Amino acid sequence: MSALVYERPAGFRFNLQARAVSKDVELRLSEAPTPLPIEGNITLSVNIGLNYCPFCGTELKTLVTSSTRKRFETLADEHKKIDDPPW
Ligand SMILES: [Zn+2]
Repeated sequence: MSALVYERPAGFRFNLQARAVSKDVELRLSEAPTPLPIEGNITLSVNIGLNYCPFCGTELKTLVTSSTRKRFETLADEHKKIDDPPW
């Protein structure tokens, strides 16, 4: 489970993400002909958009200030390597 931040034109967006496989493997499996060679069902990844911290209720966008913006930008660049959703 990870908390990811994305930088978009309208500002930063946050996601809580769980994944069974890496993004590369997810893409490969998504393009494979079905049925996949597994028994049962598997959830490759789950994303939940976050506006508030699930632990303390802090509105996440309030954490982005002039003194923290650069660190969020750096984090968003790093997280692009993990996942870069189209929105
Ligand atoms: Zn919190």
